[in-house]
Amino acid sequence: MNKVDPQLAKEIAGIRNSISRSDRTDYVTTYTEKEFFNNKTTLERVLILRTRGCSWSYHSGCSMCGYWDDTNPEIGKEELENQINSFLKEHPKGEVLKIFTSGSFFDPIEIDSGLQLSIIERVLQGYDHLIVESRPEYIRKVVGDLKKFGGRVQVAIGLESTDPSILKNSVNKNYDFGDFKEAAMLLRENGISVRTYLLLKPPFMTESEAIRDSIKSARELAQYSDFISINPMNIQRGTLVERMYKEGNYRPPWLWSVVTILQSLRDTGIPVVSLVTASGKKRGAHNGHICDRKFSEGIRNFSETLDFGFLDELKCDCQESWKNFVEVEEETGIPMSEVILND
Ligand SMILES: [Zn+2]
Repeated sequence: MNKVDPQLAKEIAGIRNSISRSDRTDYVTTYTEKEFFNNKTTLERVLILRTRGCSWSYHSGCSMCGYWDDTNPEIGKEELENQINSFLKEHPKGEVLKIFTSGSFFDPIEIDSGLQLSIIERVLQGYDHLIVESRPEYIRKVVGDLKKFGGRVQVAIGLESTDPSILKNSVNKNYDFGDFKEAAMLLRENGISVRTYLLLKPPFMTESEAIRDSIKSARELAQYSDFISINPMNIQRGTLVERMYKEGNYRPPWLWSVVTILQSLRDTGIPVVSLVTASGKKRGAHNGHICDRKFSEGIRNFSETLDFGFLDELKCDCQESWKNFVEVEEETGIPMSEVILND
């Protein structure tokens, strides 16, 4: 297997639909995090709503996405209203709120269209800015209504890569760069800023192919975006990537690769940061070495400040092991699994 098998993706969707979604109706969680937003380090609040989940995940789903875990197929308008009410009672105001749904905020099957707008209106009574996530196919219908929130709402789109064959064969995304461009242009014409996520190292790619793809993708999409976040693969439960990982056919990217990508995108003209989930752990980006904590902190500090000093000071002997890994894969053309390093 060297690409996503659509039949297998459907089977995995069937398994997740039959057993493992949640029966809770409260919101998933809320926490704060720091980020470089509006040209400064900003403390932001994150709210994860529990919805029925991404519509695409019911049919097939992306090869790496385990976000269905927190979703409940029974959740409708009333449960979502209750979640928002209880959240706003506890956290009525702040500078920036991010609302994530494990799907698309603008998917009307996931969140009722009228409720989408009333959530935005209510949030912006207490918060200066709101960031929500959506697949591109829902944007055209809502963009007219978003115009009045111009400058205060940002929409994040998970493009993952600009390469059509990677999107189809490695990610199973079911949209492409053209769909993204159309949505991003519509949003920006209406005063709504755009944040784009790239996925570092989708399956079936060598480390160097993955590095090149993230750099190339960031450069190609920069003109359509106000902010880029490079998200290195982390192994999530119930995904195709988890199966490959357990079979020894997938290794998450090295932190060295994350640093290299961020350094080579210095001149992009917009903030390019990296949020590394499970950083330094086996299921997240890691060097597999004693330096993992230092690298994780360096990348986080950089992403909160855009100060390249935090990246440039990262040094370790295992750089040679990383280079060697990349070269061996280049020669064979085959992605390798873990190589054990000595401390
Ligand atoms: Zn090291």
